[in-house]
Amino acid sequence: MQELLDQQLHSTLKTYFGYDTFRPEQETVIRQILSGRDVFAVMPTGAGKSLCYQLPALMLPGITIVVSPLISLMIDQVKALNEAGVHAAYINSALTENQIVKAMELAKTGQYKIIYVAPERLETPRFLDFACHAEISMITVDEAHCISQWGQDFRPSYLRILSFVHMLPVRPVVSAFTATATERVRTDIRVSLELEHPYETVTGFDRENLYFEVQRTKQKKERIRRYLEDHIEESGIIYCATRKGVDELYLELENAGFSVGRYHAGMSTEARRISQEDFIYDRTKVMIATNAFGMGIDKSNVRFVLHFNMPQSMENYYQEAGRAGRDGEPAECILYYSPQDTVINRFLLESKEQDREYTEEELRTIQAQDMDRLRKMEMYCTTTKCLRAYILHYFGEKAKEQCRNCSNCQEEFEEMDASEAAADVILCVRTSGQRFGMNMIAGTLLGENTAKIRNYRMEENPAYGKQSKLGQTRIKEIIRTMVERGYLRQTEDKYAILHLTGTSGELMEQNTPFIIAYKKEEEKKRDSKKSV
Ligand code: ADP
Repeated sequence: MQELLDQQLHSTLKTYFGYDTFRPEQETVIRQILSGRDVFAVMPTGAGKSLCYQLPALMLPGITIVVSPLISLMIDQVKALNEAGVHAAYINSALTENQIVKAMELAKTGQYKIIYVAPERLETPRFLDFACHAEISMITVDEAHCISQWGQDFRPSYLRILSFVHMLPVRPVVSAFTATATERVRTDIRVSLELEHPYETVTGFDRENLYFEVQRTKQKKERIRRYLEDHIEESGIIYCATRKGVDELYLELENAGFSVGRYHAGMSTEARRISQEDFIYDRTKVMIATNAFGMGIDKSNVRFVLHFNMPQSMENYYQEAGRAGRDGEPAECILYYSPQDTVINRFLLESKEQDREYTEEELRTIQAQDMDRLRKMEMYCTTTKCLRAYILHYFGEKAKEQCRNCSNCQEEFEEMDASEAAADVILCVRTSGQRFGMNMIAGTLLGENTAKIRNYRMEENPAYGKQSKLGQTRIKEIIRTMVERGYLRQTEDKYAILHLTGTSGELMEQNTPFIIAYKKEEEKKRDSKKSV
């Protein structure tokens, strides 16, 4: 029996997908599905999730319904399946009413093994009628994080998947896949889909061939120019936060003679298509783009992904950076960070939120989550610990303390005793009644004379001006590190109010040393500026 299954698995893999071997976790997931067990898999983009449900779909007796949020992805997947000889179809708003009727008729006659649908379609009478009269072996929920308010792209229509499952005469296997899920989102997915003792796996987030680096600098354009000069033969992507940012950088690099293209949602469909093709076929070396670029693009020889701005979340960052080195050869992911990036992102997040239709309560949760993700992204930019370990921990995977293939593992750090500053931060937070966020506390310690400080009479605070010798960036770094180490806590709403914790007192009373590490190179730059 076992041998027969092994044989079937491998021959299906070879015949329809053209591969000789499974990637490590794929086979386990597939076997679990075939044994009738629900599955919940968290795997990064590019890890090969589609195969995990497409292959068993071919071996299960009935039809597999794949719920997917993105029409473009459905179209790509169905096209690829049809080309491989698998009967598959999609039903979504890209089809006319007539086409839908036709597709449903074919589905009823058992023409398709796999049907992709948008969640909104599930409960239409026509689809329900079909589903209740067909043999449905599996429901696969792709991008399963969309089901959670705590997730990044909450789609209320995903919540209807469960009632659809309930309406089926026989409960099929339910499998859920996502590239991003914090513990909270994971619980939501399990509960909202009523997964039954699912086989769960978080895997494959580590991309050993990628080198990670964060550079803190305001001279981003010069740094990027220099980088391109040193990598003139290589293909790469530069991500900017805004369309304007893309246009500016594009013009500058184009004028400087680099082989660059650009891509953002403000360009015409045709212009975007041309630009994308030029990049894919290596007619332009470097693509400058907003995060609108990259979905479904499988270019294997991207040697670097540079971020001109910090993205809004680690999810976004890792997905974008992960487009480097798909061929497994060494590739570099460098993020150019300046504190201004946080300001841009706050603005972008707020305008994004106004765009959508949510209830007030949903909106509050979403805002709090957005800000929390932004803070965790910021911590990636300021941490002095291993960047890869930070990423892997973020996604719930275990990691070695040092990877030796990121800028933090390779760089030398200089330590600085910030005990006095940390004690003053605690003093300031305590005496001002734990009512303020980072900006007000930093401003007070620096002794700023602004309307905001005066409004709240912070110039009378005992910590006012006590750290005026430090810069804004450094004092915020100290506060952030205090949060990271648990000496302070930030509220999880958009105000991020600083509160004391059980250990705050240690910094004041027992004179616990508070040591912070700085990159040596940054220190030198600061010094040379001072002496000018
Ligand atoms: P995801 O959905 O997780 O983002 P995909 O399913 O799009 O990832 O797969 C990413 C790439 O890996 C695709 O080009 C796919 O063909 C390839 N791939 C998947 N499984 C295998 C395998 N077992 N062997 C080789 N390549 C694979």
